[in-house]
Formats: sequence, C-alpha cells, structure tokens
Amino acid sequence: MQRKRRELSNWGHYPTTKAEICFPSCEEEVRREVLQQHRLIARGNGRCYGDAALASNVLSTLRLNRILSFDARQGIVEVEAGVLLADLLDLIVPAGWFFHVTPGTRFITVGGAIACDVHGKNHPHKGCFSNWLLDFVLMRADGSVVQCSRQQNRDLFWQTCGGMGWTGIILSARFQLMPISSVFLRQRTLKASRLEALIDAFETNRSWPYAVAWIDGLARREQLGRGVVLLAEHMETPKVRALAFPKRLALNVPVYAPHFLLNPKAIWMHNQLYFARARNGERQIDLEQCFYPLDRLRNWSRLYGRRGFVQYQFGLPEAQCLTGFQQVLALLHQSQDVPFLGVVKRHGERPAEAVHSFPERGYSLALDFPRTPTLPALIARLDDLVWSLGGKVYLAKDACSAPRMSRIRPETFAADKFWSLLRERIQRSAPTT
Ligand SMILES: Cc1cc2nc3c(=O)[nH]c(=O)nc-3n(C[C@H](O)[C@H](O)[C@H](O)COP(=O)(O)OP(=O)(O)OC[C@H]3O[C@@H](n4cnc5c(N)ncnc54)[C@H](O)[C@@H]3O)c2cc1C
Repeated sequence: MQRKRRELSNWGHYPTTKAEICFPSCEEEVRREVLQQHRLIARGNGRCYGDAALASNVLSTLRLNRILSFDARQGIVEVEAGVLLADLLDLIVPAGWFFHVTPGTRFITVGGAIACDVHGKNHPHKGCFSNWLLDFVLMRADGSVVQCSRQQNRDLFWQTCGGMGWTGIILSARFQLMPISSVFLRQRTLKASRLEALIDAFETNRSWPYAVAWIDGLARREQLGRGVVLLAEHMETPKVRALAFPKRLALNVPVYAPHFLLNPKAIWMHNQLYFARARNGERQIDLEQCFYPLDRLRNWSRLYGRRGFVQYQFGLPEAQCLTGFQQVLALLHQSQDVPFLGVVKRHGERPAEAVHSFPERGYSLALDFPRTPTLPALIARLDDLVWSLGGKVYLAKDACSAPRMSRIRPETFAADKFWSLLRERIQRSAPTT
C-alpha cells in the first residue's frame, strides 16, 4: 500500500499539519491500517475548508474509487467511498439522471458527502445528501464491517451522516438519483437593494427548487445586505438528443497568489462591479453553470495566498435571520477583516433523525475571509453573536470557531480510534449547551 509523509491542508489552506497518509485500495488494506493505527481519520478529496480530514495519520479513500453498480432504470448507484461526484456525472447524466443534492463543487467523494451530510441550493425541497442515501458499509474501530441503513444499525447510520468520520471508515454506499430530461435549467436573477429585499426574494419565491444569493458584505447603511438572488429550475425538454454533462475548459491557478492581492479595496471594487453588472431577468443555463461555477477555476483557493482563508458558515433560526444578519454585517463593518465572498441559503426543516446535519429551518450565511493575524478575534466575536442568536457553524467549513459552535458533541458517539484535528479542537474544552 502506498504511503506518503507530507504537509497537508484542506481547501482553505489553513491549518496545515504534517501527516502520514496511506492509500488503501481494498477492504483488507483498510482493515490492516485501522487495526494498526492507534488513531487516524478518513480523508476524501480534502474539499472541506478547515481542520476536518486532518490528523497525523490519515487514510485516503481516493483509491477506493470503483463504481460498483448503476441501475439506469431505477436511478440507483452503488460506489466505493472514494468515487468523486465528478466521476459519476459522465455515467449518470447521459442516462437521464442527476444528484438530488449536490454541493457547490463536484470534486468531492461520496464518503465526504455522507460524513459532512452536505446540502445544496435546494435544502427546503430536497434536504441533505442523507435524504437520498439508501445504505452504506462502515468499517468500525475493531476492523468489523457493518451495513447501515434506516432499518439496519439505524443509530449508527444517523450518527455517521454528518459525523465527520468519527464513527469509522465508510467503504461504500448506495444512493438514489433524480431523473432529468434536459441538461438545462431556467435561471431567474433578482437584484436586491438591501437585506430585507433579499430575504423577501427568498420568501416569495419558495416554489423555485433552487435558490442562492450573493451578498455584498461591504455595503452599508441603506444598502446593508444588498445582493443578487439566483433562482433555478430544471427545464423539461423531450429527449431529442443524447444528454451529456456539459464541461467547459477549466482555467487553473497554478501557484499561490501574493496575500495582498485580495485587499479590502480590491474586494470593494469586485463587489461594486458584480452588483452593477447583475441584471434582473431570466436565461437558460446548464448543469455546470448552475451547480459548479467555481469548478471552472481550478485551485481558486490559491488566490488567497499561502496564508489561506477561513470560511465562516453559520446558520440562524428563521425568526432571527433578518436582525441576526444585520447584526453580523454591522459587526463586520467595525472590523478590519473583510469578507471576499458572502453566500446566503435558505434551509428547511431538519428531520429529527438527522442529528448531525448542519441545516436547520432558517438561513445560513457563508463568509470567506482571507486569513490575517486579527481574524481569530473577529471569529470569536462572531461566535458569541451567532451563539446568542441560537445559531451554529458548519463543521465542514470550520477552522477556528469556539468548540461549542457546531452544537455537536463527539464524546457522545465517536469512536476513540477516529480522531481529526477538528475533533481534538472541539474536545479540548467541553461544549456548553
Ligand atoms: C468550492 C466548494 C464548494 C462547496 N459547497 C458546499 C455546499 O454547497 N454545501 C456543502 O454542504 N458543502 C460544500 N462544500 C464542502 C464539501 O462539500 C464538504 O466538505 C465535503 O465533505 C468534502 O468532501 P471530500 O470528499 O473532499 O471530503 P474531505 O474534505 O476529505 O473530508 C470531509 C470530512 O469527511 C470525512 N470523510 C471523508 N471520507 C470519509 C469516509 N470514507 N469515511 C468516513 N469519513 C470520511 C473526513 O474525515 C472529514 O471529516 C464545498 C466545498 C468547496 C471546496
């Protein structure tokens, strides 16, 4: 089995750690590693942002990458955990299927999708990845292998969805796909001149299956929280020609940019331009433009420089959203740390069993901050505010929030064997409720 010793980080390039990574390609190799190591963590494609999937011993699933079966009539796919969503698209789209739930990049593994229980722009309609998960096979700390579903090992099933790899190594999974008859979607753009209008656009367009908004984190006073809401729905067209997942030539950011590139002035100019260029109206877009626009610039996170960046994604209960977001934006304006990107999503009810899923009824706001020496102090203030509003942060993005902020308590369900830097950080001080 191949092993490497190297400096490792996730998508945000912060934090970094020295890790020994192994690359098993079959169940027996995974078992040997699990039994041999005192502590380790599974890693998919490292597309989480912060310190999940990092530890001194890491088990990469990228060689567990076989597509085991595809039932093109029922739209059910069974894959090993290291298969990327990107690997599946060329198989499922031509057969008339897509994912019910997909995050904003296709370069994640199915194991990572389950362990973070990822959500998309359609949470109120389709829930999280776990909503469409039929079953998975999990290797536990003693090397035993168990099948988990809503009927079999039910508790373990729900603890593992959103359980950040702390219950074991997901080896393979089966999930349900969504039928599509076209690779095109109708997109409606709505400009919102302030936060009230932005939230109102989400509320009055609840019937659209997909909704997401860009928000200008720098706009002040009467423009506070201005943004652009993007709604989308699948188009239905007769299958006059074969479907194929549309792919454009991707550009690459080959090296780290100098850290001063994304300075407040550049961010302010970008926001002015983006808002000015947005136009109310409708247009036709394809699957890649709708779901994976960021994938067209490979390694874009290097634009933040070697210091990296932190994405602070927090959710607030519905009743707190408007005033809560206003308070958060006002707090940002007192700080010298400026978010380069702000993204708002609406979330629906969380099923009672999905104990570790991040989305709950309300809204979330994700803010990308270039990492600076003053950022931890701002995050501490954001944490206090979000906590006081009854909110929480998303562990898939978290790099330095207070341990209590995820409202997940690993000590109640996690196995001693499976440790990440994230878990270590959470465990360092017991969460308060
Ligand atoms: C551009 C971009 C956009 C994104 N948009 C969204 C979004 O819209 N919604 C959203 O929810 N997320 C989003 N994310 C986050 C991303 O979808 C999740 O972090 C996802 O889990 C990453 O998958 P991965 O395969 O890279 O897993 P990794 O990042 O390698 O690992 C993530 C976690 O899963 C665990 N894990 C991975 N594989 C296994 C396994 N086989 N068994 C057990 N545990 C495992 C790891 O231990 C770790 O805790 C986005 C990320 C990027 C870079």
